[in-house]
Amino acid sequence: MNKVVQLANSLEEHWMPFTANRHFKANPRMISGAKGMYYSTDRGEQILDASAGLFCVAAGHGRPEIAEAVNKALLEVDFVPPFQFGHPASFELARRIATMTPGDLNHVFFANSGSESVDTALKIALAYHRARGEGQRMRLVGRERAYHGVNFGGISVAGMVNNKKAFGLGLPGVCHLRHTMLPEHKFTLGQPETGAELANDLQRFVDLHGAESIAACIVEPIAGSTGVLVPPKGYLSRLREICDQHHILLIFDEVICGFGRTGKPFGSDSFEVVPDMITMAKALTNGVVPMGAVACREKIYDTITQAAPENAVELFHGYTYSGCPVACAASQAALTIYQEEGLFDNAAKMAPHLLEAVSTLKDLPVVTDIRGYGLLAGIDVAPLNAPGERGLALTQELFTIGLMTKVTGDSILISPPLVCEEKHIDEMMEKLTTVLKHH
Ligand code: PLP
Repeated sequence: MNKVVQLANSLEEHWMPFTANRHFKANPRMISGAKGMYYSTDRGEQILDASAGLFCVAAGHGRPEIAEAVNKALLEVDFVPPFQFGHPASFELARRIATMTPGDLNHVFFANSGSESVDTALKIALAYHRARGEGQRMRLVGRERAYHGVNFGGISVAGMVNNKKAFGLGLPGVCHLRHTMLPEHKFTLGQPETGAELANDLQRFVDLHGAESIAACIVEPIAGSTGVLVPPKGYLSRLREICDQHHILLIFDEVICGFGRTGKPFGSDSFEVVPDMITMAKALTNGVVPMGAVACREKIYDTITQAAPENAVELFHGYTYSGCPVACAASQAALTIYQEEGLFDNAAKMAPHLLEAVSTLKDLPVVTDIRGYGLLAGIDVAPLNAPGERGLALTQELFTIGLMTKVTGDSILISPPLVCEEKHIDEMMEKLTTVLKHH
């Protein structure tokens, strides 16, 4: 056989990320097309996208406006070194993002993924305290069950054991708040009434280690990947209060929540708490070109830049592709679609229907818990012999009948594109019910 044909037909060489490689290669779930709310396979099957790809394709698939913007950018100026040189698109995009972020989070640092955005934010937190003469603040606070990407900073502050246990000790001096999933929250849709006091764990770290050792506390407003843990009422504002009292920076990791998932631009807007930094990625470009960003408050940018000698580099950090032209073009086009089509409002409008629809799964024997907020829901199923075994079986079975979902362990996560209509949600529930009732 001709070598090119042989290579194209081989599944062996690509070591797939976060994938059961051996299972996948025996049962490939291949996608060859995408339009609107649906993926398609090369056998012509339509697969309804209940996960917005991976929480990112807010405007739906195959948007020509984005393709055209990217094409134009590539032909206009394909690459500009982002260190010591600039191009207008990254400044224009930073300005646009700054108009969307809450409070005075007006300075935007570009990265290429959620993981890079998280590590960037953690580094900025350390650099900020050092610049203000408190370089001893090196401790970082994360939370159990958090997901903050896969880089060393992110896995250190995160709290999902499988993402940590093979990779050594992580950063020193990290503390973890307890997660907020209390037994009495079972089957609560929306914000639980109890649990705000769990935020006092941060005060306990202050009492134990001294506030002067703590740089920042990072949380996802809604912990997404772990199964959709919605913050208890008053929890995030309590974290804000403790951070304010002790000069600790509060970072919201909005890689999933950002750009409308909660029905507002950011989770920060929905839960009415303004952090000091917001990390974002995914829907920033509708998922079509890798891009991440960190929005920072004025005081962070000013402190770091003013502490450096005149004409010196102020922050020794950045990526070859930080704010690259093609990603900026994709993001501008995506943000324009979100704005012109009122997609954040559509998410808010569709949210009650989604939450009501997922709650109909409650009586199926295999379903052990359901949570949700905005266009984001988590459905837990009883594990089979090993954790995740049923989750993987469900991924496969749902795909076979035309539904793509993200499954973490034994939690099915539903996060449709923000362009979804009631009929799509109904189709998702019909397919989920068909499969779940046989388990
Ligand atoms: N932070 C959060 C809250 C996420 O949900 C994710 C990805 O799901 C990340 C960070 C990592 O993003 P990426 O996979 O783009 O590195």
